[in-house]
Amino acid sequence: MKHRPRKRFGQNFLTDQHVIHQIIGSIAPQAEQHIVEIGPGLGALTKHLLKKTQHLDVIEIDNDIVEHLKNFTQYPEQLHIHHCDVLKFDFATLQKKPLRIIGNLPYNISTPLCFHLLSYYNLIDDMTFMLQKEVVKRMTSLPSCKSYGRLSVMIQYYCAATKLFTVPPTAFEPQPKVDSAIIRLAPFQEKPFTAKDELQFSAVVKQAFAHPRKTLRNNLKDLLSDTQTLDVDLSLRPGVLSVEQYVKLANSLL
Ligand code: SAM
Repeated sequence: MKHRPRKRFGQNFLTDQHVIHQIIGSIAPQAEQHIVEIGPGLGALTKHLLKKTQHLDVIEIDNDIVEHLKNFTQYPEQLHIHHCDVLKFDFATLQKKPLRIIGNLPYNISTPLCFHLLSYYNLIDDMTFMLQKEVVKRMTSLPSCKSYGRLSVMIQYYCAATKLFTVPPTAFEPQPKVDSAIIRLAPFQEKPFTAKDELQFSAVVKQAFAHPRKTLRNNLKDLLSDTQTLDVDLSLRPGVLSVEQYVKLANSLL
């Protein structure tokens, strides 16, 4: 198919066969598993997934690509195309669970998309994504590292996050300006630390990192009362607290 890549949809298509096989190998899809691909594009990964699974759901926003995908397999009942914006897609409507979600994600929506997916963590077995290397670094960072922030805390609260390997710009057409990396996110069956109210936890973490150079006391002043005693030292900067400490902090603010 002749297709002019659309920048607004973050279209950097994978062309390096070695990298494509490396990604499929690291997913190791099995026939009976429920695989969901976000942004199949011209089918670089889709083609291989269709060989391995009986049922593949794909979510794609681009009209022209969706038309192309309709004729992509000789077994149309195997491929379920959802023509929509993945940020609005309700993953709970997919029948067979748990889900294995994969994708070479459009970089412009990767952070909001990961937050959207975290709201379905209990339906998901694992997620294998290509992201900007910097974003993978933020997701896997530990306290006191420069790239540790809200995204690190929220991802690591819900998932075991593992960087698998890096991918250079030359693996794509057109080539992105930055390096990419593959990450595996596996939602915990039992979370190591549990927030009593996850919406409140998420709000506390967001507020704590509102100004990363300010102290927790300063960032959280609207949520604190004079009488509360907290387990956490509020004179610290937000970037030094572990996930466990954020859970403690949020629970004690309830
Ligand atoms: N999987 C293909 C590959 O590896 O070559 C294409 C990857 S390309 C980086 C991202 C894909 O996501 C494109 O096909 C693009 O049209 C699609 N996309 C972008 N924004 C989307 C959205 N909001 N919802 C669903 N698909 C989207």
